[in-house]
Amino acid sequence: MTNTYQESVTNPISAAHEDYLKAIYLLEMKGGPVNNSALAEYMTVAPASATNMVKKLAQFELVEHEPYRGVRLTKLGRQIALEVLRHHRLLELFLHEALGMSWDRVHEEAEKLEHVLSDALEDAIADALGHPTVDPHGDPIPSKKGEVEIAEGTALSTVRVNLPHVILRVLLQDQERLYYLGTLGLYPGTEVTVLERAPFNGPLLINVGGVQHALAFEMAETLLVKESK
Ligand SMILES: [Zn+2]
Repeated sequence: MTNTYQESVTNPISAAHEDYLKAIYLLEMKGGPVNNSALAEYMTVAPASATNMVKKLAQFELVEHEPYRGVRLTKLGRQIALEVLRHHRLLELFLHEALGMSWDRVHEEAEKLEHVLSDALEDAIADALGHPTVDPHGDPIPSKKGEVEIAEGTALSTVRVNLPHVILRVLLQDQERLYYLGTLGLYPGTEVTVLERAPFNGPLLINVGGVQHALAFEMAETLLVKESK
């Protein structure tokens, strides 16, 4: 294959490029076209910076940019985004399981390490962890081939009361909120039952392992669950 990305091996794409590809992928996953302003907001940069970066990525043939329609990853761009995401989530799990770091701290570390992880170390970590498919937040870890299996879940904010559910995934990266959820024991794999739901998107009363807690509606919206068997 002779394309600009291959040529760039001597001039490898930077961590910033990888972060943008990952961001575009994650925004695509949320549905709908990805435009420069959404991307700028996600990356917390000025719109002009995002626009410049998208132009560069388009030169490398990593994204396709259609004015007024948005940005889309090319096959190669998606492949890189998924590899970085695999690194990120494997590292999160490794830091959590092997080094005992709490789940609210691993994201920040993985943000840095994901760009420098070698293939050999990636494989060693995957082996050591038994080829896991989800990270500590329940986010799917893409396979080496770039396949992703996304768990179907329902937001805890919408489930029937008095019916036990299991947490599949926590749609949060925010350190303080994750820490807080951790203090309530709301990790993937935990069983949780909604006992009461206040009207008008008010707080929920939940049971976690026999202990009752009030949980804000907006927090319950970030917890994807399925019915327990
Ligand atoms: Zn994660």
